[in-house]
Formats: sequence, C-alpha cells, structure tokens
Amino acid sequence: AKENGRNSYHFHTKELTRAAENRQALESRLHRAITAQEFVLHYQPQVDVASGRILGFEALVRWQPESGEPVSPGVFIPLLEETGLILALGDWVLHEACRQALRWHAAGLLDVPVSVNLSPHQFQHLDVVELVRRALAHSGLPGALLELEITEGALMAQDLTTQARLSELKALGVRLAVDDFGTGYSSLAYLSRFPLDKLKIDKSFIDGLGQDERADKIVATIIAMGQGLDLQVVAEGVENAEQLQLLRAQGCDAVQGYLCGRPLPAEQAAARLVQERQV
Ligand code: C2E
Ligand code: CA
Ligand code: CA
Ligand code: CA
Repeated sequence: AKENGRNSYHFHTKELTRAAENRQALESRLHRAITAQEFVLHYQPQVDVASGRILGFEALVRWQPESGEPVSPGVFIPLLEETGLILALGDWVLHEACRQALRWHAAGLLDVPVSVNLSPHQFQHLDVVELVRRALAHSGLPGALLELEITEGALMAQDLTTQARLSELKALGVRLAVDDFGTGYSSLAYLSRFPLDKLKIDKSFIDGLGQDERADKIVATIIAMGQGLDLQVVAEGVENAEQLQLLRAQGCDAVQGYLCGRPLPAEQAAARLVQERQV
C-alpha cells in the first residue's frame, strides 16, 4: 500500500506538472493571439417567444489560432480572467461589437441591441464606465443598441460600489442584463434595487425542463419573479421544441439557443436580419 501511495503521489505530481506546463503554454499562446488579433465575434440571436422575431444578438468571442489546437471560450476565458489578460481582450470585444452593431444599424438592419459579456474582472475595473463610454463614442453607436451581460456572481461579489457602477452604466443609455441567473446565490433584495433590464436564466435549469419537476418549478418561479420586477426574462440554451413549449406556457419573454439559431459569423447573422426584414 505504501508503494502504491508513493506511485500515486509521483503520478499526481507528474500530472500536475504537465497541467501546469499546458497552462503555461496556453497562456503564452493567448498572449500572442491577442497581439496578433486572432479573435472574431460570432452573434447568436435572442428570439421573441410570441412573435419569433429577433430581439437582439449576443456577441460571443471565437479564437481562430493561426496554428495549434482550437480552444473554446469556456476554456480560455477563465484563464484570461485569472491572468488579467481579459481586460485587453474584453476591450477589443466591446469595440468590435459596437463597430459591428453600428454597421448594421447604419444599413437599416438593426434596431435591437447587441449584447456583450462583461467579465467579472472588467466589471470590477475602476474605469469600466469610461471603457464602455469610449467604445460607444469611438463607434458612434447609440447606447440603447448596446446591452451588457454581467454574471449574477460578479454582481453579488461586489460591495456597495456595484449599485453606483450600474447606475453610471445605465446613464450611458445601455441596457443591463444579469447573466447565468440562478447560479450566483443572489439575494432577491438586490434584484429590485439594481437598475437592471433583463434576466437570463442559466442553461443548467433549461436543460432540466420537462425532465425534472424541480427545474420546471425553478424556471416558473424565476419567470414570475422577473416579470413582477418588470425585467425581460430570457431562457438560455434552449435546444428543443418541448423546452420552448414549456417556456411559452410559463410566459417567458425570449429564448436563446441552438433551436432558434447557433452563434453565427457577422455576415450570416446579418443575412438572418435581412431575411427577417423581407417577411
Ligand atoms: P455565456 O455568456 O453563458 O454564453 C452562452 C454559451 O452557451 C455560449 O457558449 C453559447 O455558444 C452557448 N450556447 C448557446 N445556445 C446553446 C444551446 O442551445 N446549447 C448549448 N449546449 N450551448 C449553447 P460559448 O460561446 O462557448 O461561450 C462560453 C462562455 O464563455 C460564455 O457563456 C461566456 O461566459 C464566455 N464568453 C464568450 N464570449 C465572451 C466574451 O466576449 N467576453 C467574455 N467576458 N466572456 C465570453
Ligand atoms: Ca452571456
Ligand atoms: Ca449565460
Ligand atoms: Ca453560462
């Protein structure tokens, strides 16, 4: 058993060393990728449950490396967040999404907002309001066509400055959404106090719809509460017609998910807008 213990210890250090090396390697690849601008944004529609019309797009970053393995945002965003590199990428995302939204708006295609994910690091940055103001000013995009998604966790982690920060962002005319709602141990008190426009119900609850009675009840409760507080409620990760049916029955405002459309490159997202204008 002793022998075994030693082996497993050695095994673990080896594995850990390898993981650390991989992490190091990925981190320096990411550093280079930011300098080399290897990122693009894809856009996923949010669709009105009642009319089927597009209510907005969420901008989602994609890394298209010149060389090496493709890596998904679920992997590289947390790493960028830990290293602080997210501030550089996040600023690019903000500017790029505003530029794209303005192009669509100028072409008469877009009168709904584009949503940008603000990472916890970005949201807690002292200058976050200034960064957003600059992205709007540089692009010329009206604030009303930009929505910021802030995770419930990031809102809750903050102290009293959260309230002030949200109010200053609101004063720029932008819309504010709570992302991943239901995962952040929030107190309900803050929901009514903060100047929010939208709740996005986390996909983990939507996954259980129609399968798990508890998920059904949680989702119904979130929808009722959101509406009671005059917040638009969006369900994330809607993949099948049964989920959509249940959400419609519960009065959910909008859905986002593979059922209604995957995240698309800008040109294809624009094609959907054009198509919608024609019907
Ligand atoms: P998120 O903000 O919760 O974004 C939703 C994620 O769910 C996206 O994954 C989207 O592609 C995926 N998704 C949408 N509909 C469905 C569906 O029906 N089924 C399934 N299985 N997945 C669906 P993605 O693009 O891989 O992004 C993962 C996470 O990475 C995002 O979660 C967000 O936290 C982060 N992220 C992505 N882009 C950015 C960005 O530009 N800035 C920041 N700070 N974070 C980002
Ligand atoms: Ca999001
Ligand atoms: Ca989310
Ligand atoms: Ca999520």
